Amino acid sequence: CAKENGRDNAKIFTSEMASVVTKKFGVEKEIHEALSLKQFTLAFQPKVFMEKENILGLEALIRWNHPIKGYISPADFIPIAEESNLIDKIDEWVIDQTLKQQRIWRDKGIAIVPISVNLSGRHLVSDTLVAYISEVLERHKIEGSLLEIEITEGILLQDIQRCIDVMRELKALGIKISVDDFGTGYSSLSYLRRLPLDTLKIDQSFVRECDSHLEDGKICETIIHLAKNLELVIVAEGVETAPQAKKLKSLGCEIFQGYYYHKPMSSESVAKLLAKTH
Ligand code: C2E
Ligand code: MG
Ligand code: MG
Ligand code: MG
Repeated sequence: CAKENGRDNAKIFTSEMASVVTKKFGVEKEIHEALSLKQFTLAFQPKVFMEKENILGLEALIRWNHPIKGYISPADFIPIAEESNLIDKIDEWVIDQTLKQQRIWRDKGIAIVPISVNLSGRHLVSDTLVAYISEVLERHKIEGSLLEIEITEGILLQDIQRCIDVMRELKALGIKISVDDFGTGYSSLSYLRRLPLDTLKIDQSFVRECDSHLEDGKICETIIHLAKNLELVIVAEGVETAPQAKKLKSLGCEIFQGYYYHKPMSSESVAKLLAKTH
């Protein structure tokens, strides 16, 4: 009887595993198709200095409009792409598309600002990244100073020496580097002084209640002071209300991103906005 139970369990386990695997490969196949069928687009969300009108940069955010399933959030498909080498293809597409966009806007006489792209941590340490980026900068004739890279904390702890080496090469191209979602990873503060970083982005989970929840306000204050002491630029992301912005300003933060200022928007809308404000 025990043996039979054991066999049953094994059977259930296997079929569940199979369905998870099938589903994952299904999505991977669809991501692959999405790349070749051009189903991805980029949205751009402005970063502002103090006020809505002072746009000093943009962040490129990938959008997937699936022909049947409709909009699929990057929060859902990026983690799946990260489990395969598809993330490298996606990240490369985003970099190429971003610099192509810069070129189009520059040719139209629009005053362009630096655009940051989110890179999967795994891709940062791959040996092809720097060569790829230099090639694309060259192809679109865009300066490295018009590109920034956002990475999350996770990867920084895994192979710090490799991260330092890659970041130095990126910086030699004029590219700036931000730590995204700062404060949510397994932070070891020692990496902050070893890595050649430019910017910390305070995670929106702290921003959300910075004006209403004492501890969250204190965490924002601490992160802002930390950034200032280390001579890093600080950006607050996910700012949705005037009281949040006011509180963050009172703590010394000057650069903001969030729905209160601007939502992520199409390239056409952002071009109009840049033309109007610059
Ligand atoms: P992230 O880089 O931290 O981007 C911020 C996310 O917050 C974006 O969600 C943005 O649309 C959203 N957001 C901006 N302002 C507000 C606000 O005021 N309130 C709220 N509630 N949300 C706000 P999105 O576009 O869904 O992207 C989610 C995550 O997916 C990104 O987090 C990033 O980690 C990843 N991601 C997005 N695009 C790419 C990409 O091209 N490549 C890679 N590797 N990852 C990407
Ligand atoms: Mg980001
Ligand atoms: Mg973030
Ligand atoms: Mg995030």
